Amino acid sequence: MKKTPTIDEIVAIAKRRGFVYPNSEIYGGFIGLYDYGPYGAELAKNIRSAWWRSMVQLEDNIVGLDSSIFTRPEVWVASGHVGGFSDPVVECRECNTRSRADHLIEEAGGFADEKMTVEEINQVFDTYREKIACPKCGKKNFSEIKNFNLLVKANLGNFTEDWSKEPVYLRGETCQGIYLNFKNVLDTTRVKVPFGIAQIGKAFRNEIAPRQYIFRKREFEQMEMQMFVEPDREMEVYEVWREKRMKYYIESLGFSKENIQWHQHENLVFYAKAAWDIEYRFPFGFKELEGVHARGDYDLTQHQKHSGVSLKYRDPTSGVEYVPHIVETSVGVDRTFLAVLTEFYDTDELGGDIRTVLRFPYHLAPIKVAVFPLLKNKPELVAKAREIFDLLKVEMHCEFDDNGNIGKRYRRQDEIGTPYCVTVDFETLEDVAVTVRERDSGEQKRIPISELVHTLRA
Ligand SMILES: [Zn+2]
Repeated sequence: MKKTPTIDEIVAIAKRRGFVYPNSEIYGGFIGLYDYGPYGAELAKNIRSAWWRSMVQLEDNIVGLDSSIFTRPEVWVASGHVGGFSDPVVECRECNTRSRADHLIEEAGGFADEKMTVEEINQVFDTYREKIACPKCGKKNFSEIKNFNLLVKANLGNFTEDWSKEPVYLRGETCQGIYLNFKNVLDTTRVKVPFGIAQIGKAFRNEIAPRQYIFRKREFEQMEMQMFVEPDREMEVYEVWREKRMKYYIESLGFSKENIQWHQHENLVFYAKAAWDIEYRFPFGFKELEGVHARGDYDLTQHQKHSGVSLKYRDPTSGVEYVPHIVETSVGVDRTFLAVLTEFYDTDELGGDIRTVLRFPYHLAPIKVAVFPLLKNKPELVAKAREIFDLLKVEMHCEFDDNGNIGKRYRRQDEIGTPYCVTVDFETLEDVAVTVRERDSGEQKRIPISELVHTLRA
């Protein structure tokens, strides 16, 4: 088994090769925010496409949606986020650093989570107080723990300058937009229960202590699917989706089995029927990648109650009416991105040198083929390489590179995970063929230009 890279190795290659940049870097950065660079943007796009393909294209009864980031604020009251979507925060009395109380308790060997009341967490904190020091100054003088709401507030549509009183919220999760459009989708498409709605989009959380690189960001991107099911078929559908999602990571993304595992929630929220997470072996250990949850009828019932609009479904055969139950799958683009970098990061020895290589599967690779003229200062080689680049670029995402020696160009493409490099040399002008070098093995083959597109595709 390949060894898991360290987070420092991942951060370094992601920065060096233009996958991930710190946000507002020239101003000193902005905690909890990162930007995807040219190759990161491509990788994220390919991650979204793989998910969308598996959910919307390959499933007969799932349709896509792209709902707004803003909604009426009542939505977040109905969903429970205004009342209960909070993290327990403790403040250091010496240096005023705010920390997640549950994280500090965990690090001291205890257990606390967001489902406990603030009184319960204060009690647990007290029992570990001796062992808990401020992560910034190391002192042990803390305030009482308070709950801090994670919704990000904004002033859309409020021109009174006093929007603190009636804020709207940037969505804290994408699935609320799915619930809000349940009836629209039902009325305007051919779906029948059981059916799903899938959505990819940004969500925002005012995390107190964003950490672990892009694992916990304040602005992040979710890929969520909500399956609307008959109440008594909820658990059956749930089991089907548990299996499908695990299979997706192994078969569609190519993750190895030993890097992925199930984790059952110890504390279920009151309405949930079952909640398991798919955990990935990140550089900092096994952590949640995706949640697969059976949520009962809580979501639609809440919106029915708060909006006053019936969200019942009438079975076309039996005529029976019911509020559908929800089976949800929810994963972040950013967490998948970090898992993909971790999974495919590798080092080996090639031609006597140690190289770093990202062994992305073809469909995830930001660049599929790089095209090089052997020498930059030979116009006939550059012209031929340009011609081949123009031929290939309409078929797949390519990059043209004539900088530095060929060995350096190979290393660079290895580090951005490009599966194939095509080199145009003097022989090309004679035999109308090129050298194709394969990333993982470093093997080189001579391929006629006329067969190039077909061979690379295969
Ligand atoms: Zn402190």
